[in-house]
Order: sequence, then structure tokens, then C-alpha cells
Amino acid sequence: MKRILSMLLALVMVLGLAAMAPSARAYTGGKLVALTFDDGPGPYTQRLLDGLKARDAKATFFMVGQNVARYPETVERMYQEGHQLANHSYDHANFTDCSDSEIRSQLDKTNRLLDMAAGKGSTYMVRAPYGSTNSRVRAAVGAPLTYWSVDPQDWKDRDAAIVKNRIVNNAHDGAIILVHDIHATSVDGALAAIDVLQKEGYEFVTVRELFRRRGVTLENGVQYYSCKPTGKDLGPVAAPSISAETKNGQMVITMTAQAGAEIYYSTSGASLNQESKRYTGPFTVSGPCTVWAVAAYNMNGSRSAVASQSFTKPTAQAPKINISEEGVLTLENRTEGASLFYTLDGTAATASSTRYTGPITLEPGTVVSACAGGDDYLTSEAVRATYSHLGHFFRDVFPYHWYYEAMDEAAEAGYLLGVGDGVYAPERFVTRAQLVTLLYRFSGETVTQEQRDNCPFTDLAAGQYYVDAVSWAYARGIVNGYDRETFLPDRQVKRQEMAKIFVCYLESVNKALPEGVDVSGMFSDAGKISGWAKDYVGQVVATGLMLGNKEGTFRPEASATRAQAATMLIRLPEVMESLPEKPAE
Ligand code: ZN
Repeated sequence: MKRILSMLLALVMVLGLAAMAPSARAYTGGKLVALTFDDGPGPYTQRLLDGLKARDAKATFFMVGQNVARYPETVERMYQEGHQLANHSYDHANFTDCSDSEIRSQLDKTNRLLDMAAGKGSTYMVRAPYGSTNSRVRAAVGAPLTYWSVDPQDWKDRDAAIVKNRIVNNAHDGAIILVHDIHATSVDGALAAIDVLQKEGYEFVTVRELFRRRGVTLENGVQYYSCKPTGKDLGPVAAPSISAETKNGQMVITMTAQAGAEIYYSTSGASLNQESKRYTGPFTVSGPCTVWAVAAYNMNGSRSAVASQSFTKPTAQAPKINISEEGVLTLENRTEGASLFYTLDGTAATASSTRYTGPITLEPGTVVSACAGGDDYLTSEAVRATYSHLGHFFRDVFPYHWYYEAMDEAAEAGYLLGVGDGVYAPERFVTRAQLVTLLYRFSGETVTQEQRDNCPFTDLAAGQYYVDAVSWAYARGIVNGYDRETFLPDRQVKRQEMAKIFVCYLESVNKALPEGVDVSGMFSDAGKISGWAKDYVGQVVATGLMLGNKEGTFRPEASATRAQAATMLIRLPEVMESLPEKPAE
């Protein structure tokens, strides 16, 4: 039964049905009222939040920074439950007695504390302590200032019934009601008032929603007492819809929200706030995962409930491609129960490609693509490999690469051995030891014991593959050390250094190279070629051994790659044939 349920769930998701939107109350165009709580949070605020949640009522909290620091979990809960966080100074200072910079400091300190729940970049409305302002204070605050139209004087009469009756008797459509959640009697009175007023058709919204729904834009430095009906109600913010479809084996998530609202979302389960990811268009997920999303005009107090959608299928792991020396392809399944699919025509494999049932003999020059998928899995990424024209297995060299043929020939000639398991690392930088080893293999020569004995470098690790090659190259005058005893085998080779090494090799086999080639007009970055390297670069370019790149540059200081070295090696026989012998001395 459980399995059938999960299959049904998966089917619903694959069909791309919208998420069940959480119960957003239907638009009524009815009476709106904003309850505001000052001076907290305090010991009764959690109980207040329980009561608001049970009544599906939203409120606005004008908080004192000192108390925000004392009750961070309460503030986090307020925010996550869709209430509006707002600023009521840091220590309840009377703003008319404060300098402009003291006002800023009072507000900024509290804003930073509220940011801990709401995230950086949030905006907070302000209520001045004691409602005490003047034009200077309003300018210094620089945010909309919230007053009230209903004041039950709850701090004076600590009596829940009195508080309730004063709220009920004075409430009006568009009212902003002032209460203090630091008194237990105020919390009880306010909750009791909500019960009565909801029956009379009032909807409890944040201050921000009260104004947004009535189409009123709040302005900084202006004092607001209430929001009388404007003949307009834009309705609550609807939760976003989340839909999914599989595309090329991946789950693509699309979300929509009402006009003008932004969507904030998470796929990690982290609480949503101002710093959450913002939806900008369809994105891909791998299962199993859950997407949580909120639509908002302002994440702090003008937002929808959280919508969520779960995707229960796991993603299969891509298979491993193996190709034998004889060109037999086998696919290794790395996800139990998954099916494997492949193509041999260079296109990326998908779950609708040919199903793999056993080894296949490949024609040389084939690019294999493979993926894993099936009924119980999201399809893996497609992996590729080449069975080259000369019969080599490459995981990272493909016919569309400019160096494909050179790498294939270098592998065929045995110059380039690869780094193992079909990996040739063509774009990896070539080291001095590797480059000399390539040339040594190319030369077909064998190092002599005398050459070994005369090698002066003390930084060649004994037994390393390159020791013979370096001894040979030093003896033949192809390389020098950095000083008498240091070769630096692992150092990368700059392109102008590679030019020099190839020229020295050609000279070591008695080839006469062109002299005095002027490279200054050949490359836009010719000025970057070092003085010592100009002749060498001229020589490799004149013989066709090295070319510039498409942008018309030579990039003398760039490190040479293994593919570049292999390409030069493959060009070398033809270049050698074209060059005359050096005249005898
Ligand atoms: Zn106050």
C-alpha cells in the first residue's frame, strides 16, 4: 500500500500538477483591522502567538531592541508565522529628546537585531516611543511612522475584560489598534477581542497588508493613524504554485505567484526570509527533495503562507563507461534497480535512448553517451567517452576538441600514456618533467649511463619516471636547470619556455632553424614575449610548430597544456623534414 501511495504521489508530480495551495482565505472585500503590540517581546508573547495562530490572525509587533535581544526565538517565530516585525527604538527613548544621530542609532541597533530573524535587506516600519514625534524626528526616522486610531489604555487598567471591551467598542474598518504584549491581561483581552470582531466580519492583518490591500503606498517620514476604506481590496497574498515536469531526465521546477509578488524559496529546509533565494525562472532539482516557497510583496509582513512540494524519487547515479582495447563497450550500473541507456551518435543519452543489455563492440571513432534511470529514479546526468579513430579510450578527449587528432596520434605513438582509466587530462598544465619525457619518448633515443652519471640535478626524486629523460635532455643541451643543481621537475612550462625547449631539441638533432624572424607584428601581445625568448618564438612560429590562438595572441606567459605539447610533438616530424641540416662547422 505504501508503495502504491508513493507511486501515485510520483505520478501526480510527473504530471506537473500544481501544489496544493495552503488555505488562503477567499477575498472578501470585507473589514480589515491591524492589531499592533508594543514594547515586547516579553514572557507572554509566545502565548499570544499561539492565540493568533489558532485564530489565523496576523499582527504587527513594534519591538524594543533590548527585548528583541532577550527573546530571539520569539521574534523568529513571529516572523516565520507571517507577522510583521517593526521597530520601537532600542531602549524606549523619547525621540524628541534625542539628537538625529541618537535616533538613527536607536533604530539601527534594533534593525540589526530584527535582521537576525528577517534577514539582511529587510525593511521595518517604526513607531516612536510614547508616540512622541515632531517634524525633525520624522525626517530622522526616514521610514513610515505608525500611530493608532484605537487606544484601549491597556497599560493603565490591567484587566482583560476591560481591554477586550474597549477594543471591541472602538474598532472600526481600517483601524490600527494599540496594545502592549508585555501585560498578560492585554494578551488575554486582545485574543478575546479577536474572537468577537472576527464574528463581526473583521479580518486581522499586518499594518503593511492593511495599506497594500487598500492600494495605499506608505511613504517615509509620514505618520499613519489608520487606513480608511478606499473602495479597493487587493486581497491577501496567495501562496505560489509549484509545479514540476521531467525534462531530459531532470526534474524542472516552475513556480508562479500573483502579479507583482516575488517568490522566495528554499530546497534545503532552511527558514525563508529576506536572504532566501529568489525565483527567477525554472530550475532543476534532483530527488528526493522538497521545495518551500513564499510569495511576497514584502517578506516582512506582506507575504503568503509557505507552500511546499516534495519530490520523492531519488536520482540514479550515472553509469561508468568502460571501453576495452578491442573496442568493447561495457556500462557499469552504479544504482541498484536502475536501467541504463546509451547512444552512439554523439547525442546525450536520455531515458528514451536505447536500453543497455550487454557489451557492444564499437566502431573506431564512436562517441558513447550513457545515463541511468527507469521507473523508480530520476534520470542521471549523461556521461560520455570516446573510442577514437586510432582505437583509444578517452574519457576526456572528444572529436570536437581542436586537439583530438593530436591526442589520438600521441596516444597511438606511445608518447602520451594518459593518467589512467581513459583519462588523458588534455587541459592540465604540462610540467617540465612531463615535457622532457614526451620529447625523450619521441626521440627514440636511450639514455646512456654516462649521461645519467653526469646529471647535476639534486631535486630529481630517485626512481621517478622522468629521471632518465631529464638526464638525456640535459646531456643533449635541450634543457638547463634553474641553477647548477636545480631542475624543478614539477614546475609548469610557460609557452615561451616550451618554444625554447623545442628549438633546442631541433638544434640537438642538427637542424638549421630560420634566424632573425621578427615576431613584433605577428601577435597583438608580442610585447609580452621576454627578450630571451623572442628568437625562439620566431623560430617555432616560422616553422609552423607553434601557432598563435584565434584572438591573434601568443600568450607567452601562459602555462602550456598537455594538449598543446602533444600537438607540437605530432607536428614535429614534418617540421624536421622541412628543415635543412646544420652546415658542418
Ligand atoms: Zn512603547
